[in-house]
Amino acid sequence: MYHAFLLKYGEIGVKGKNRYLFEEALVRDVERALRRVDGKFSVTRPNGRIYVEAEGEFDYENTLDAVKSVFGLVQICPVVLLEDNGYEDLSKKVIDFIEKEYDKKDFTFKVACRRGRKDYPKDSMELAADLGGDILDAFPDLKVDVHNPDVIIHVEIREKISLYSKVYEGLGGLPLGTSGRAMLLLSGGIDSPVAGYRVARRGVTIDAVYFHAPPYTSERAKNKVVDLARIISKYTGPIRLHIVNFTDIQMKILDCCPHDELTIIMRRYMMKIAEHFALEDGDMGLVTGESIGQVASQTMQSLACTDAAVTKLPVYRPLIAWDKQEIIDESLKIGTYETSILPYQDCCTIFVAKHPVTKPKLDIIEADERALVGQIEELYQTAIDTAEVVEVE
Ligand code: ATP
Ligand code: MG
Repeated sequence: MYHAFLLKYGEIGVKGKNRYLFEEALVRDVERALRRVDGKFSVTRPNGRIYVEAEGEFDYENTLDAVKSVFGLVQICPVVLLEDNGYEDLSKKVIDFIEKEYDKKDFTFKVACRRGRKDYPKDSMELAADLGGDILDAFPDLKVDVHNPDVIIHVEIREKISLYSKVYEGLGGLPLGTSGRAMLLLSGGIDSPVAGYRVARRGVTIDAVYFHAPPYTSERAKNKVVDLARIISKYTGPIRLHIVNFTDIQMKILDCCPHDELTIIMRRYMMKIAEHFALEDGDMGLVTGESIGQVASQTMQSLACTDAAVTKLPVYRPLIAWDKQEIIDESLKIGTYETSILPYQDCCTIFVAKHPVTKPKLDIIEADERALVGQIEELYQTAIDTAEVVEVE
């Protein structure tokens, strides 16, 4: 029955003079999402609305799924587009629509009309009342409820007439890339893919960096991170993933620094290297999946020490005040959970101390790091020089 979708956006409607930039970005994102689907589509944006129209055969479910993954949309409505052939014809089509769309005709409804052109012979109230009357005549078990109806039959009169009643919730947020770009520290865990997703949802293009420690971490652990990047790229668009060999740095820290500070110092080096690639890629901040108090390295004191390692960019932690269960629920929703829980060793879990410091002091950490001076610089440079880049899509 449907050959078109009406897409409604929320927040970008208030961007004043820049509004058209956001609309163009949104159209581009919708077109990009539709490239995954069999079928030929045209995407247009007349008067504050986006329409997707299929030309010929197309896969309805996949199309719906694709547009549902676009940031910036708040509602997705499969719509029947009609030519204006007068009221009688419209009334017949509306009844036909209800006949096909609803198996059981025993719900409450109202008709909501909007008139985008004032030359239509009936005004919105009159049109809604007349159509409502015709619907009741055709389906005697339906009831009108204007306050809390089960079904709203929407009729929008413009160049063409749009008829719809199914409304799917969109992801919200802002179109991709309209807010700039950031570097995500992506591990194989549950949190960081969710963090990347949430930031991308605010219109940020995501680059990513992953630290591994071969041979202590496996090829499978690395592939898992590539898989996670691929899953979120469904929403975020292509991701440039830097894969950094962290083994020698980690071993050197293990050699030279107190064991209970290993994780914090390691984390500080990850941040420094991430910042290096971020500046190279033109990113405006770092993003991590940290959340207050989740583990020893994420106490307020630990976060302060990690933060201090980054000198030129802000560190964004979108999950900072989320509970673990909330993060898990979100990862289930976006489809990363099953991959995140695959049990491969992460470089943070090898050599980890039994009793890591939970209240590190920055001056002490910095003093202990001095043992690395003269030895770590070359390893740091080598880690940067030998990093691999994978474009994930
Ligand atoms: P996650 O589920 O994201 O792995 P976690 O609970 O395991 O989080 P930590 O291991 O303490 O937390 O890591 C905190 C954050 O540091 C991660 O969310 C991620 O942003 C970053 N991080 C940790 N390990 C790595 C890694 N190997 N490569 C890149 N980033 C990492
Ligand atoms: Mg982790």
